[in-house]
Amino acid sequence: MTDYSASAARFAADTRGHELTVLKDNAELADLLKLHDWDELLFGGFYCTHCTPDDEDSFADPIPWPCLPLREAGITDDDARALIEAHREKVAAEYRAKKADEQAELQRRVDAFNSRYKVGTPVFAYPGCRPEDHPGDKRLITRTRSKAEVLGGHTDVVWVDGHGACIALSHVDVISATDTSPEASAARNVPRNPNELCRDFQSKPEPAEFWCANCRWNKAMHDNEAARTAIRNALDCLPAGGA
Ligand SMILES: [Zn+2]
Ligand SMILES: [Zn+2]
Repeated sequence: MTDYSASAARFAADTRGHELTVLKDNAELADLLKLHDWDELLFGGFYCTHCTPDDEDSFADPIPWPCLPLREAGITDDDARALIEAHREKVAAEYRAKKADEQAELQRRVDAFNSRYKVGTPVFAYPGCRPEDHPGDKRLITRTRSKAEVLGGHTDVVWVDGHGACIALSHVDVISATDTSPEASAARNVPRNPNELCRDFQSKPEPAEFWCANCRWNKAMHDNEAARTAIRNALDCLPAGGA
């Protein structure tokens, strides 16, 4: 598990607190350490992965690390402690670097979303699974009601009308302005006309006879079940008290 491939001098340099003088300019010892690698026992302590045979019986009685060959080569308890410490610090530093990268990537996605889409942008939002993963799951035809943000340092999210909890940006599709599907049209138009599509078209007087005096939707939509469903769904997503 420990990477001893670097030069012996590097090991000495990597190790803080304790000077691993024994490793300086000693490539032979570095190779020996690479061979006699250590791992940690579940209940504490360290064993040599090379000297402990790979069978169940041996794990009940593992060979402690540093093992005899290492001790004979001059590795002391202090050396061993310093090596383990150096390894742990390296792992911790790698973990911190990885976390920082993830944070930066999340923030970058959030900034990109906010610079392109203002609050109120029509979106399809999937509180459960995305349709590719699970076609039957709920799809909200709605709008964003907040800016996107990084939540808890681990997920980029946004809040939408008609849903209390935030939704991961990976589960939000911005509705394209050129999308003329009933769902996209409903998402855009319902905030401006929060009436259910009626079944009893009443023509307005000229010049607006194309539009319904009851529900204010156009005439053709009254015979369109898809439009009816889309508008009802979009109405369900309106904030309480209307748009
Ligand atoms: Zn060993
Ligand atoms: Zn109507």
